[in-house]
Amino acid sequence: MKISKTLISKEEIENKISEIASEINDKYKEEELVVIGILKGAFIVVSDLAKKLQLDVTFDFMSIKSYYGSESSGQIKIVKDLEYDIADKNVLIVEDIYDTGLTLSNLKKLLESRNPKSIEIFCMFVKKDVAEDPIEINYSGFEIGPEFVVGYGLDYNGKYRELPYLGVLS
Ligand code: 5GP
Repeated sequence: MKISKTLISKEEIENKISEIASEINDKYKEEELVVIGILKGAFIVVSDLAKKLQLDVTFDFMSIKSYYGSESSGQIKIVKDLEYDIADKNVLIVEDIYDTGLTLSNLKKLLESRNPKSIEIFCMFVKKDVAEDPIEINYSGFEIGPEFVVGYGLDYNGKYRELPYLGVLS
């Protein structure tokens, strides 16, 4: 397997992160924010975003597994839970990619049951027209096609996460 093309360059990604960080800075100025990165894929988005935030902000991470079988679809298993209580907090979920949307819609329901003050979602890459039951993404980086992508946190068998751009494997 090799990277056959660069879909989104390092520069485009850097510009987009700055743009979204300034929207988030505007939205949450004067407010406390808890940023929740979904491991492992979102670790690079969170770290790039973090450096651009000028807010009263706390970072936490969660790791989850989704099940897609017909009987168990809609289930997520928490592999690593949050360290902080999010009750009455403004929460921003940061995810790498939105494909069918199952992971995020289930995660959002789960976090809503913990009574945060608000929940928003930032998803770096959004696959167009794939979601069966779409949920609102408040900040989305780039819309992409259905092809399998790697880089900027996204892996194939654990590899390629470190690439500073988004590429297509073939
Ligand atoms: P969803 O529940 O939205 O279908 O799945 C989202 C998860 O699927 C992502 O967090 C990611 O782990 C994985 N995923 C979906 N599409 C891709 C892709 O094109 N490349 C990689 N590396 N992972 C993907």
